[in-house]
Amino acid sequence: MVLDPLRWLDDELAALDAAGLRRRLTQRGGSQRAEAIELGGRQLVNFGSNDYLGLAAEGPRQAIVQTIEQVGWGSGASPLVTGRGTVHAALEQALARFEGTESALLFTSGYAANLGTIAALAGRGDAVYLDAKNHASIIDGCRLSRARLEVYPHGDLVFLQKRLARRRDYRRRLIVTDTVFSMDGDLAPLADLAEMAERYEAMLMVDEAHATGVFGPSGRGVCELLEVERGVHVRVGTLSKALGSMGGFVAGSAPLIDWLANRARSYVFSTAPPEAMAAYALETLRTVVDEPARRTVLLQRAAKLRAELQRQGWNTGRSASQIVPVILGDAQRTMNLARTLQERGLFVPGIRPPSVPKGECLLRISLSYRHSEEAVQRLLDAMAEAVPSAI
Ligand code: PMP
Repeated sequence: MVLDPLRWLDDELAALDAAGLRRRLTQRGGSQRAEAIELGGRQLVNFGSNDYLGLAAEGPRQAIVQTIEQVGWGSGASPLVTGRGTVHAALEQALARFEGTESALLFTSGYAANLGTIAALAGRGDAVYLDAKNHASIIDGCRLSRARLEVYPHGDLVFLQKRLARRRDYRRRLIVTDTVFSMDGDLAPLADLAEMAERYEAMLMVDEAHATGVFGPSGRGVCELLEVERGVHVRVGTLSKALGSMGGFVAGSAPLIDWLANRARSYVFSTAPPEAMAAYALETLRTVVDEPARRTVLLQRAAKLRAELQRQGWNTGRSASQIVPVILGDAQRTMNLARTLQERGLFVPGIRPPSVPKGECLLRISLSYRHSEEAVQRLLDAMAEAVPSAI
């Protein structure tokens, strides 16, 4: 009898089950909106989306339809061959204008942008300094780079500074961080990081995935908010969250973009995204610029939600954004609370390893501009009821 070489999977999956860590595929019916999503045949208020400004579902369809009518759907090739069309180029120009940089480059996803960019900027003989809570795509890019990795505990600038001071004989050095951390919703200490990058002659790269369209007077992100844009050499953003589309981008100097177009493997060796996707993002970028009230209302509601949850006794960590964690620690408790909320018509995802470190499980409340005050109040009422059994 031939043994199945994949039989080990059954044991591994059973181990995940036993630890309360097994993930199941879910399937949403209909569209995703903050006000309601259909999950398991039920309508739930959706606190589990990154569609922070409500642009994923309510954005302009006409732009997509027109583009498809003109150029079809698929782009047919990687961008350096024949895949890059006029709409891609127009979006890159608009992104550079928006970010106030010389140039910008469009990737198929934020994940691809981080992966390709880091591996193009650092290699053998270089060092990359990264926050322990950086997004998986940053960590993967660092691993791929083959540079020496210096991971500093989350936000620990003293540790980072010691590591930077310890060795200076690397060929090049890169500091890389999320600006809004995707699970805890806290902000990176960018002013200090920019100062250290300057002092130690390191490149500074930031990932504004959860901040583009949300933070800063013009919606450019936390770099704009903290006025450190000039000290940041490489800015990554994504079109898949506040911009409601799909795709990632890098904004920076002309030589940087030129280098990435030559050397970022996730750019060079991957088919260009459909132009219709870029057309959609062009429109929603305009909304970000024209409708700043969306981000101010969102952040005000988030501040109120955080304050109320804290008053009820929940631990919301250091969140300072539209991502509000309720930190519970244990996986089973977290999933139990998520289930209780779901029974009350509220979808809030429970986050377990590998998305967070072991023992740091949390409910990740993701607010959208489209959540009404009543919807947020419903969540608060349900959380208040859950306090005695969960804390
Ligand atoms: N960076 C961060 C901080 C993220 O949270 C994510 C997505 N969760 C990404 C990058 C990847 O972006 P995308 O979903 O567009 O691939």
